[in-house]
Amino acid sequence: MGKCARHPERETRFQCLKHGTWMCEECLSCRDSQIYCKNRSACPIWYIEKRKKRHKYGPAADGRGLQRQSEL
Ligand SMILES: [Zn+2]
Repeated sequence: MGKCARHPERETRFQCLKHGTWMCEECLSCRDSQIYCKNRSACPIWYIEKRKKRHKYGPAADGRGLQRQSEL
């Protein structure tokens, strides 16, 4: 576990293996998505980002959209 690079108060289990930076769920995104990354096949950040993008065009089945609204 580490602390999010942008939100030092948040603990996260996601780390970019290439850059060694930690990202909370809100910050999860691949910095070099256009560039080859040897860690990509095992990267949870890449995987989750891809899944999120697909969700944008479909129904929010996991309730994440609702959660985001209640935070505001
Ligand atoms: Zn963050």
